[in-house]
Amino acid sequence: MQLRLIRHATLIVEYAGQVLLVDPMLDDAGARPAIQNSPNPRSNPLVALPIPAEDVARGVEAVLVTHTHSDHWDGTAARVLPKGAPLFGQMEDEQKFRGQKFSRVQAVTPSATWNRIEIIRARGQHGRGPIAKAMAPVSGFVLRASGEPTLYIAGDTIWCDEVQKAIGEHKPAVIVVNAGAAQFLEGDPITMTADDVITTCKAAPSARVVAVHMEAINHCLLTRDDLAFQLEAARVRNQVAIPEDGEWVELVG
Ligand SMILES: [Zn+2]
Repeated sequence: MQLRLIRHATLIVEYAGQVLLVDPMLDDAGARPAIQNSPNPRSNPLVALPIPAEDVARGVEAVLVTHTHSDHWDGTAARVLPKGAPLFGQMEDEQKFRGQKFSRVQAVTPSATWNRIEIIRARGQHGRGPIAKAMAPVSGFVLRASGEPTLYIAGDTIWCDEVQKAIGEHKPAVIVVNAGAAQFLEGDPITMTADDVITTCKAAPSARVVAVHMEAINHCLLTRDDLAFQLEAARVRNQVAIPEDGEWVELVG
């Protein structure tokens, strides 16, 4: 298994001999307005892709989309990805993908198998209370294949019972968490805070944790440096990779 952060939650995952693209947000920097009712209003994405969108799409054999908020699936992704690429997502987004003329859409309900890879939907909470309801539905995905370590891509969720359950059930070797502590002007964070990442580490002490979803969208207020500082204080810094955009993640050790 190998994993590369492109930007925000967009990942290239090499798994069981296949190349998967996760949550493609491929718009140019500043292509979209700031998130409504959010602090720090600046146009999104805040930063450019580390490589051109066409190069991100090249060689991709399947696409996984946890949900279709614009920071996980955008206009450029829908335009540059091959319409015949196998596209896995939550049942609730199936019609949207078909409407965008993707011909090989498969809902992960509650699992799907592609080549040797089993993809299992995990649940999550994209915030608390009424905000979480408004932001739903979201998914995470667990990837399993014989001879490969289990990978859990938690998606846009805070620490919650569903994340704890996914860890308990699947015992992932690698967990990708969406940090950034994204926030609106009111209410609690809707993606993981530093405390949530620390709780994840303690719930899965033998897993490698990869923290992404930072410094690319205006309402993500937790930076990589803030997160690193708080992980250090909680003595879990060594368990967590915090890749830069474009960086391959070292998954050993
Ligand atoms: Zn997001």
